Amino acid sequence: MECRICRNNDLKEFLSLGKTPLANSFLPKESLSLKEESFPLAVCFCQDCKLVQLTYVVPAEAMFKNYVYVSSTSGTFRAHFARMAEDISKDFNLDEKSLAVDVGSNDGILLKGFKRFNVRTIGVEPAANVAKIAEENGVETINGFFGKDAAKEIVARKGHADVVTAANVFAHVNDIDDFAENVKFLLKKDGILVIEVQYLVDTIEKMTFDNIYHEHLSYFTLTSLANFFKRHEMEIFDAQRVDSHGGSLRVFAKKNNGSHKAGKNVGMILKHEQEIGVEDLKLYREFAGNVYSVRENLKSCLEGIKNKGMSIAGYGAPAKSTTLLNFCGIGRNFLDYIVDENPLKIGLYTPGTRIPVVGPDALDKKKPDYVLILAWNFAEEILAKTKKYSGKGVKFIIPLPELRTI
Ligand SMILES: [Zn+2]
Repeated sequence: MECRICRNNDLKEFLSLGKTPLANSFLPKESLSLKEESFPLAVCFCQDCKLVQLTYVVPAEAMFKNYVYVSSTSGTFRAHFARMAEDISKDFNLDEKSLAVDVGSNDGILLKGFKRFNVRTIGVEPAANVAKIAEENGVETINGFFGKDAAKEIVARKGHADVVTAANVFAHVNDIDDFAENVKFLLKKDGILVIEVQYLVDTIEKMTFDNIYHEHLSYFTLTSLANFFKRHEMEIFDAQRVDSHGGSLRVFAKKNNGSHKAGKNVGMILKHEQEIGVEDLKLYREFAGNVYSVRENLKSCLEGIKNKGMSIAGYGAPAKSTTLLNFCGIGRNFLDYIVDENPLKIGLYTPGTRIPVVGPDALDKKKPDYVLILAWNFAEEILAKTKKYSGKGVKFIIPLPELRTI
């Protein structure tokens, strides 16, 4: 195993979350009798370029061919992406002559925002079922992985891009060198790349280790991203910390000869990272110790409830719940069912732990004593939606960033 960015082969493993199935491999009932495939889930640190990455890479085809995650089912995401498209359109004066390309465009959630500003758009989405939803929503989409072929097809169909966006995608890409070269080919001379990635500093500070799963190959800091883009004659000229996914980094990169002026954010964030020690293995070892403590605390909380003979349901079955449930050993022994609003997930069973995913009406039919909010980054949204149950004595457990019961 060598470093994804700099090819260093002396990587330091600091955290193991065990062997788990793919986070999105929810099972239909007829597969319950079959053995599930699982893969090692462990994280290591490159002391040369400072990239944190998984020790084991599952082939992409196994992970993304039938993805059940549809961005637009979350109101919080809809608002986030509408705002992101608006900010980029205004800040970079995009208009009807401009082209925005979204890589990993999902159901078109971000591109719809650009269309509102009359910007021409095209998406690239590998999951056939999700790409089809985008097309049905009127968002032109190439169904496939973003590579040289897709980049060429876009230039042939639409010309070169003013902006390429990749929100919650860059961490999924194994060959990021190829990705960067294709983006450079696709962009106009003064075009920009905007990526949004889960921010490792937030993962550490807010203990959001459930963001670690096989689809996320890399865990970025601005330090490691800056090292990466430098190798591709690109430069990060702006960066912002944003709220999504429990804390993300939005990074603006340009070709070295592009005209955009660097703002002061980049220097400030890099300085902060240096102060907290992102270049030092010690930070990651401490984080791992905290992760193991979270598992102990959550398990003893749930065991306490079960010992009193009370019932627990889960709320939300996002990909990251697979990490939390498998790592902590939370299965049918603790949770009777998990409520989710995504119609593509209802009727399926959670990977590894095999808890049934059901529609929200289950809370009426079989009222639990406690609800463990697995989509904890939407805790406020979920608590607001389920107010009537807390009125009836149902208590809600929010596992992260700090275990609390409401
Ligand atoms: Zn490296």
